[in-house]
Amino acid sequence: MIIVLVKRIKESQRRSIFDLLIDGGVKYFESYLDGNQVIVVPEVSSVQELGGISKLSGVAEVIEVTDPYQLCSRVAKSTATVISARDFKIGGGYFGIIGGPCTVESERQTLLIAEAVRKSGATALRGGAFKPRTSPYAFQGLKKAGLKILAKARSETGLAIVTEAMGCDEVSLVAEYADVIQIGTRNAQNYRLLEKCGEMRTPILLKRGFSCTLDEFLMSAEYIMSGGNDRVILCERGIRTFETYQRYTFPAGSVPMLKTLTHLPLLVDPSHAAGRVEFVPALSYAAVAVGADGLLVEVHNDPKSALCDGRQSLTPKEFEIMIKKCKKIINIVK
Ligand code: PEP
Ligand code: MN
Repeated sequence: MIIVLVKRIKESQRRSIFDLLIDGGVKYFESYLDGNQVIVVPEVSSVQELGGISKLSGVAEVIEVTDPYQLCSRVAKSTATVISARDFKIGGGYFGIIGGPCTVESERQTLLIAEAVRKSGATALRGGAFKPRTSPYAFQGLKKAGLKILAKARSETGLAIVTEAMGCDEVSLVAEYADVIQIGTRNAQNYRLLEKCGEMRTPILLKRGFSCTLDEFLMSAEYIMSGGNDRVILCERGIRTFETYQRYTFPAGSVPMLKTLTHLPLLVDPSHAAGRVEFVPALSYAAVAVGADGLLVEVHNDPKSALCDGRQSLTPKEFEIMIKKCKKIINIVK
């Protein structure tokens, strides 16, 4: 159950609400939903169980939610959430386009790709400075120096910056440079990291864990939201199946399904799902057709020499052509 508090609530009104919760012996979490102060009472699903709560003067509304996730449920908020960072806007009819390299390699490479993706319609630049690599011997990212390059790309192009934080101790540093903090698939169930993201006021782009069910994915989003950060963008990036030809498998059906379960905006990352550049456009068109709110795409000026994920990176020209076609599909399905 979610208790929405009135705006500019008085201390005496707050007190009587908390007295009732404490007397009832229930667990509760203070957070935000759509910018409003709320109290989540997860183990209570009906107003009757907390007699009198809806009559208290500090309570604007009581929402009964029976889903295990509360704040990210469509029941909690029936309208689509729009999240913006600079000119990047996603959800509720806004299609958000994020393009850029897997990893920041140099200033020249990053600025070149940033300018190209901006010209094709992207409003955010992606690029990892901290890279989660399967091998400890692989390039791990330029770290702080990479964040500085991203900040330079932002000041030259106006693009919002999307970049990953891998550990709790990195989140604040990344937030100094990023407009959106990415949490990667391998960390989608790192609950201490998700709690840290809940303390931040920067939007969080949460990738689906490659073995997470939709419920588990939404529970991860709930960790962030219950911690007080209501600006969460979901990203379907493919799951692991028995198929090995594709790097992961893009489960197209998860897009309309998630959109009925949650009000949060949902991106699709076709690059990590396909793993091969020749299939990235087809997966992108499919994502747009099934109702994705945006795309996160890897783009590299010289994919063959990329330090990471070159095999799945589009050239700027390929990205431009693909985005033009995506826009046509958006107009058909909207
Ligand atoms: C990435 O976006 O470069 C990345 C590492 O993604 P994922 O966490 O989905 O593998
Ligand atoms: Mn990558």
